[in-house]
Amino acid sequence: MNHQPSIHIIGAGVSGLAAAMTLEKAGYNATILEASNHIGGRVATTIKDGNIYDHGFQVMLDAYPAVSEFIDTTTLDLKKFVPGSMIFKDGVSHKIGDPRRDFDFAIPTLVAGIGSLRDKWLVFTLSRKLTQKSLYDIFTTEEQTTLEYLKNYGFSDQIIHQFFKPFYTGIFLEPDLATSSRMFEFVFKMFTQGNATLPASGIQAIPQQMATQLNGDIQLNTAVDQVLNDQIKLKNGTQLQSDFTIIATEAASLIPNLPKSDRKWHSVQTLYFATNVVGFKTPIIGLIAGENCLSNNFHFLNDCIPNHDKVVSVTIVKKHNLSLEDLTNQVREELSTQANIELGDLLHEITIHKALPQLDSLQYCMSETETQLTQHVFLAGDHLSNGSLNAAMLNGKAAAKAIIAKIENHQIV
Ligand SMILES: Cc1cc2nc3c(=O)[nH]c(=O)nc-3n(C[C@H](O)[C@H](O)[C@H](O)COP(=O)(O)OP(=O)(O)OC[C@H]3O[C@@H](n4cnc5c(N)ncnc54)[C@H](O)[C@@H]3O)c2cc1C
Repeated sequence: MNHQPSIHIIGAGVSGLAAAMTLEKAGYNATILEASNHIGGRVATTIKDGNIYDHGFQVMLDAYPAVSEFIDTTTLDLKKFVPGSMIFKDGVSHKIGDPRRDFDFAIPTLVAGIGSLRDKWLVFTLSRKLTQKSLYDIFTTEEQTTLEYLKNYGFSDQIIHQFFKPFYTGIFLEPDLATSSRMFEFVFKMFTQGNATLPASGIQAIPQQMATQLNGDIQLNTAVDQVLNDQIKLKNGTQLQSDFTIIATEAASLIPNLPKSDRKWHSVQTLYFATNVVGFKTPIIGLIAGENCLSNNFHFLNDCIPNHDKVVSVTIVKKHNLSLEDLTNQVREELSTQANIELGDLLHEITIHKALPQLDSLQYCMSETETQLTQHVFLAGDHLSNGSLNAAMLNGKAAAKAIIAKIENHQIV
């Protein structure tokens, strides 16, 4: 073809940005249409009273294969969490982690009253097994729930309830470990091979960095109403002609003939508190293992963000009907009795209703051909494969590659 095709991407989340980066690398600029007023979609940060508050506690696992393709980790000032956790129950703490990667964990892990020696041996064999298991094998192994997987692997109820449940509840954003064992194996493997990281200026620095690499236009506050073949109708009534459109968000509400989506989402709530407690002095994630607690995990912001002394982020995953005031009091009580940490004023609260997609069957990512919906419309987004930054980026890339192949094979209408 002899003219630049017009390409639009709906959604400036990580998936849409990865699609735009892939297109630009091949010489094609896309216009991104974004309904909200910010870049990054679910990867967002609010700055309030000089403090940096991420929209939910999320981390980038630097072992994700997509990270090396789309992120320049050298300029993000990434802070690494140590490969372990502090587990709190009834006022007693246990430090456990991977002694092969951080020797400081060796003795605490061995003597921690969490799980038997057999459990610790099983963690070791599992990490060896998953280091060797390919991503292809992980995502083609028959699925079961993570809870079934852990029981079948032979872990005791104690380590499941006191370590795996609190740790993976904070990752899967559901407290029953009902998430597919494929996701468990994938995340476990990524934790074994790398670190959980957070940019020193908040999680939104990740999509911001992606956006700064783009030449194409990103139009914020531009909500799309409908996509009809090669036409895009904006909510403000404007009609755009588009040779190729990537829908990097849920497509069902944008395309009239698609069945309505009944996808459910996991939600999460994060409370930020002032505290006089200095912190752990090392970047580590705290887990609350008390069975009936609403508080799931917490960390001190100054572990990652400079000048954020004495601010704690607490994540709530379990469903509840408490008012914010009652919840705040309960979380204060739980951190006090479980972890001996006294929380002060509530500084900020955020609830994310659609945090992670609930998916029945998980894939690693879409193939290029799977992304094509019609001659003009392609799909991307994490919800098509698994809820992770890795899948979001790889699905964006796959949709872009499918379009590049079409253009370069002269299959444009
Ligand atoms: C609290 C929380 C914790 C998480 N923890 C982790 C973690 O630790 N590790 C990890 O890998 N992943 C984590 N995730 C998941 C990760 O954030 C997502 O997988 C990823 O951000 C999805 O990117 P996306 O581009 O597919 O979707 P989104 O980020 O949802 O982007 C879609 C974009 O489309 C826009 N949009 C929607 N409709 C329209 C419309 N009609 N017109 C124009 N624009 C539209 C939206 O505004 C949005 O910007 C977490 C997510 C949350 C919320």
